[in-house]
Amino acid sequence: MNYAVIADAYGKIEATTKRLEMTDILVNLLKNTPKEVVAKIVYLTQGKLYPDFAGIEIGIAEKLAIKALIRASGRKESEILTDLQTTGDLGQTAEIQLAKKKQVTFFSKTLTVEHVYETLDKMAKTTGSGAVDTKMAVFAGLLSDASPKEAKYLIRTVTGNLRLGIADMTVLEALAIAYGGGKETREPIERAYNICSDLGRVADILVREGLESVKKMQVMVFEPIRPMLAERLPSPEDILEKFNGKCLVEYKYDGERIQAHKQGNNVSLYSRRLENISSQYPDVVELIKKQVNAHEAIFEAECVAVDMETGDMRPFQELMHRRRKYGIENAIEKYPISLFAFDLLFVNGKDLTREPLTNRRAILEDVLNQNIQLQIATQKTVNSSKELEDFFEQAIEEGCEGLMCKALTKGSVYQAGNRGWLWIKYKRDYKSEMIDTCDLVVVGAFHGRGKRAGAYGALLLATYNPEKDMFETTTKCGTGFTEKDIDYLHSMLQKHVIVCRHSRVLSMMEADVWFEPFVVLEVLGAEVTLSPIHMCSMDVVRKSSGFAIRFPRFTGKYRTDKNPQDATTSKEIVEMYQNQLKQIQSNK
Ligand code: ATP
Repeated sequence: MNYAVIADAYGKIEATTKRLEMTDILVNLLKNTPKEVVAKIVYLTQGKLYPDFAGIEIGIAEKLAIKALIRASGRKESEILTDLQTTGDLGQTAEIQLAKKKQVTFFSKTLTVEHVYETLDKMAKTTGSGAVDTKMAVFAGLLSDASPKEAKYLIRTVTGNLRLGIADMTVLEALAIAYGGGKETREPIERAYNICSDLGRVADILVREGLESVKKMQVMVFEPIRPMLAERLPSPEDILEKFNGKCLVEYKYDGERIQAHKQGNNVSLYSRRLENISSQYPDVVELIKKQVNAHEAIFEAECVAVDMETGDMRPFQELMHRRRKYGIENAIEKYPISLFAFDLLFVNGKDLTREPLTNRRAILEDVLNQNIQLQIATQKTVNSSKELEDFFEQAIEEGCEGLMCKALTKGSVYQAGNRGWLWIKYKRDYKSEMIDTCDLVVVGAFHGRGKRAGAYGALLLATYNPEKDMFETTTKCGTGFTEKDIDYLHSMLQKHVIVCRHSRVLSMMEADVWFEPFVVLEVLGAEVTLSPIHMCSMDVVRKSSGFAIRFPRFTGKYRTDKNPQDATTSKEIVEMYQNQLKQIQSNK
């Protein structure tokens, strides 16, 4: 299959903002794709080669892509950089510059999807000394054979900027229409995806074996399940009303979510983003081998830094020290952790995700040999707001963030990959005057003065808008950073510096430095206000007004467990604004 066919479809997808049209184009593309190539197309359309948990990324830095473009196009660096200043998008610059290419390569060959995929795969797997040069040379070769339009999408793919705005759900719908027999078959296809987190594999089974085989797909050890997420409500009364007066309340531990998979002596740990993080936690791997008395199990737990002498929980920031490649043994000793298990999804060949919560919990108790390092989350059943509030205060006193309130009904299944009302979070921040914390994406920075000279004085932060697939600025934050944070951020952000505003960032402010959206920080603000200069939910509530967070303060939490797309959404900020208005009304 020629890569030009994909490039053509990408062009059409880009030209529309209508989801239905986008789906139609994708359906057409999938229908015209040979069966054995469908999975590759599915990955490529999402800017990937494999599912996230495989840990293989295409990613090359923009600077390197520029070098490859210089080599392939024969243009001067200055010409490319000047053009980049105008377009703000290296893909578009590649298209323009390659169209001006003087010499046509003698042996240029037609690019096929298979060849593109294999080449990108080779690049992704190139490591060790000289890897950077090799990748550049290989990519320049690919660009030399590409038409200007193909080059545009190749560049965007390798630099992680494909931004077609095609969410997982659109791909699932397109698959349902193209190969499942119609839109209504999306549900079983989506379920298959939620339990294996591998869109390419689901697509492959669907096209080769049909819908029935997809329906039969099972939870499998070492294939992470997409996590169930919680809604939020501001008061015990609201929460109990939602649960018809009774629910399970559980400590909401302040750590890192871990999905543990065990089969015999093999254990893998996956993060909330479904990356394999086993190498960071060899102590947890050992603990699970010893304390889980089932041959096979998949369970979820919060991993929390603790003081081993007192058993007290330590702040989330201490876990940061465990995010490292080297010196792990040392960090294990210095920053010990405990696991608090809260759900069991699979045991000895049996999928438990469709069982009610009480059954899952009962089996979890059988399966875990609890000790000081591995415990089941502290929990209680409550049916009054007084009880809920008391338990909340107890949780806070013991160092937790608040409570997770969970439905106890027969229908209280594990909603893989969904944020629903079966779980509701209740955190301390809602209670104060302040708004809830937000997880915002760093998109720009302003140079610091005085003590912060040479570093960044403030960061420009954005929410995520999934409908537009854009990051929209919402605040400028210079408070809450320790000196250590300032140094750390300055060096860590260097990797993400780009020449001009990223094409997925909407901003009226001109930052001194721009970044590709990558780093996510937790920020607490005093209030959400309407704003003429921030682009978050611009024009949604009022013409020419967006939303800003006033008096933002960095909480000290680097949300390395979140992708930029997992950041607080622009819609959530509007909801916070509306909740604030309600609160003001009720206080009157
Ligand atoms: P979200 O995951 O909802 O997008 P988030 O990552 O900011 O947002 P929170 O809003 O703080 O997380 O709440 C959900 C997280 O709380 C879970 O992903 C999990 O890591 C953590 N957690 C702690 N204790 C529990 C518990 N007992 N049950 C479920 N989750 C828990």
